[in-house]
Amino acid sequence: MSELKPCPFCGVEGRLIKGKTAYGLQTFRVSCSNHKCAVSAHTVDFTSKKAAIAAWNERVTMAQKPTRRRA
Ligand SMILES: [Zn+2]
Repeated sequence: MSELKPCPFCGVEGRLIKGKTAYGLQTFRVSCSNHKCAVSAHTVDFTSKKAAIAAWNERVTMAQKPTRRRA
């Protein structure tokens, strides 16, 4: 699953985790695969694999942007 970007906090690759809701719906979330990650980043549950991957990658992109200095 090379479409997943690495964790913005530790740099270890993310992994897709499948689950099920109480109603039997398939859910997907992307989580950091590093057990020692200080933040243990993960997305919320999505019913679409694509949406979970997009949310993870977007979060990574946001975290990688340099912090703006306030004037
Ligand atoms: Zn991590």
